[in-house]
Amino acid sequence: MQDSKNVDCSGLAQLSLDLKRLGSTRCQRRDVLLAASGFKASRLMLTDMGIEAVRQLGHTFGFGWAAGRTSFALRLDTGKGGFSNHMTRVTGFDGRREVFLAKNGATASRLLAAHANHTMIGRALRIPTCCTQFYLDKAQAAAKHAYDYSGLIGMPRTHTASVLSNTYCRYFDRGIVDHFPCRHHCRRTREVAKQSAMTLRRVDPSLLTELVAAGTFVYSDRDGVFWLNDIDGVAGKPVIHAQTARESNLARHLARASQVQIVLGSERILRVYGTHDEVHPRSSIFDNVSVVSFRPNYGDEEVLFGDRSGLNNDQFDPMTRPVEGYGN
Ligand SMILES: [Zn+2]
Repeated sequence: MQDSKNVDCSGLAQLSLDLKRLGSTRCQRRDVLLAASGFKASRLMLTDMGIEAVRQLGHTFGFGWAAGRTSFALRLDTGKGGFSNHMTRVTGFDGRREVFLAKNGATASRLLAAHANHTMIGRALRIPTCCTQFYLDKAQAAAKHAYDYSGLIGMPRTHTASVLSNTYCRYFDRGIVDHFPCRHHCRRTREVAKQSAMTLRRVDPSLLTELVAAGTFVYSDRDGVFWLNDIDGVAGKPVIHAQTARESNLARHLARASQVQIVLGSERILRVYGTHDEVHPRSSIFDNVSVVSFRPNYGDEEVLFGDRSGLNNDQFDPMTRPVEGYGN
């Protein structure tokens, strides 16, 4: 694998522009750029048209790829904005195929052939071994959740984690890492995220800024995922910044809320204040709901922006209070 410091940044910046012009999502651009840079291999599910684009781009920009023969249909999750981690085999033209991208074609072909060798694939995709183990250990439980592992991720004690390892933002086409971490505060995931961010910063800093999502994320398998502006409800800003569902009970309560707090040391984790009502933290609305505040930890801003100036932009509102003090 090529060292990320030796990456041809101007070539990859052009690759990023071409991907954007072709209508690729932010996460697809991230995965192609990280593979083309040699930092890690990537795995995508692409239509025949997407595979043809990869073939042309691979030829122009010098990265390898290999596509499987089997077609799959993605089973879209209605509560999560069309996100899918589950697929079924299909015949016909509408399917997507598994595609591995790597620095060269031989590596991509080896990964495609490795199929069920999770250790080998995990290593090439730079998934920490603790997270690969989590993926295997929780497979049965995940099957009941359309193979979406998000609700199974171990929570940090303080409900805060580094903005670098935010994977709840995948439902909003953001995030620096693609794998499900074993815990939101998985140290190895943060390390991989840090290295990925530094590679992306050299190649396409504006894409990196778009991929980073700070804030409080409320996750429910059933009732949607919510990206909150701030758990304190800053004056003049609605509580919800983005959401994948509008019709659920949880969506309706969050939409009416003027303030949302995380309650620690309780079996329920959210307290929602509205202009007219307050939802009791023990309400069934919060059944199976996970809440994590993703903030820049010490040094994250330097990794993301090269200095601390990023703290002044909208995503890192300096007025944001730390979450640690909310235990009650
Ligand atoms: Zn881990």
